Amino acid sequence: MAIPLVNLKRQHTVLCNEIHAAMAEVVSRGDYILGESVQKFEQEFAKYCKAKHCIGVSNGLDAITLTLKGLGIGQGDEVITQANTFIATALGIYHAGATPVLVDHDPNTYNLDPTRLVSAITPKTKAILPVHLYGQPAQIDIIRAIADEHGLLVIEDAAQAHGARFHGNRCGSLGHAACFSFYPGKNLGALGDGGAVVTDDDELANWLRMARNYGARSKYEHVIAGFNNRLDTIQAAVLRVKLQHLDTWNTTRRQHAARYMDILENSDVVLPTTIENVEHVYHLFVVRCGNRDEVLEALKVEEIFAGVHYPQPIHTQEALRRSCSVPHRLTNTASFCDELLSLPLCPFITGREIDTVAAIVSRVAKPAKTSTFQVS
Ligand SMILES: *Cc1c(COP(=O)(O)O)cnc(C)c1O
Repeated sequence: MAIPLVNLKRQHTVLCNEIHAAMAEVVSRGDYILGESVQKFEQEFAKYCKAKHCIGVSNGLDAITLTLKGLGIGQGDEVITQANTFIATALGIYHAGATPVLVDHDPNTYNLDPTRLVSAITPKTKAILPVHLYGQPAQIDIIRAIADEHGLLVIEDAAQAHGARFHGNRCGSLGHAACFSFYPGKNLGALGDGGAVVTDDDELANWLRMARNYGARSKYEHVIAGFNNRLDTIQAAVLRVKLQHLDTWNTTRRQHAARYMDILENSDVVLPTTIENVEHVYHLFVVRCGNRDEVLEALKVEEIFAGVHYPQPIHTQEALRRSCSVPHRLTNTASFCDELLSLPLCPFITGREIDTVAAIVSRVAKPAKTSTFQVS
């Protein structure tokens, strides 16, 4: 049987009845737009993140764009992020009107390298937007200390880190605001698009609630030139069901990651490393090897679908090439992307499937050329 990167079918088989009941409730109530399920999900997710507000929006990209706009960040401003993330992180900055400033990543964690920050800060810098990439929290204590020193905001891209913790605190409560995506394949995913902003900032929360809904303070009273960026009520109902399972799923993800690591320990791949005092939620299980495409092919022959996150860094993408600022050479970003390999992992993969994948990877993979300890 084929092994997909993420097995959503199994998840939905297990939750089928619960999800149908939740959807049916919305249909019978008829509150399709900003209905009761949206409010309830917002309360539950804010509480889960230990934050004051959650504002449901249409997707993760819009969460980033709106958050920056709401904080007054736009034309002429710079926002620092990393070059090895999904393009939405940088597009959010771009669509807010600001310039994405791309720095290199830490060779051990793939997260933003805080030692690269200070030299990337200019008088135009307004915020730092670290990504909790692959499900591991960014080095937020150091990032926040630098931000505080320079009067900058920290906004989390938490699209891959629902439920992850840094020093006991959940992603979503680590910066001024956090942007989540509920794209189906995320650790907490809807059955379509969805997103949210989580924050303690009353003013930002207020602005976002209006901005996502045509700028309306009350019906037909429009105080800002807003958008239609609402979280769908049926998706919110689905998310309420799934939120109850998130912690269990994340624990299972960690167990699956541990099983991969046990088997692959003596292989030639570079395994993921976790910094101290964080709870990684393994949105992706990413290894490195020197013959990545060969391994991908060997897996594909057996109908095992691994992935690459991400094959092309943002500063070389045609869409943003001319719109980003790159203050220093992105040595790690450039050299690692040919070696990255995401192995199938989700709460519903079986131990035997992991064993099958790991056996092929062990047999085929050759050592990576990039060193984890390289100084760029
Ligand atoms: C998925 C993702 C996004 C975008 O989310 P969408 O809901 O697809 O718009 C943003 N940032 C990161 C790091 C992501 O993985």
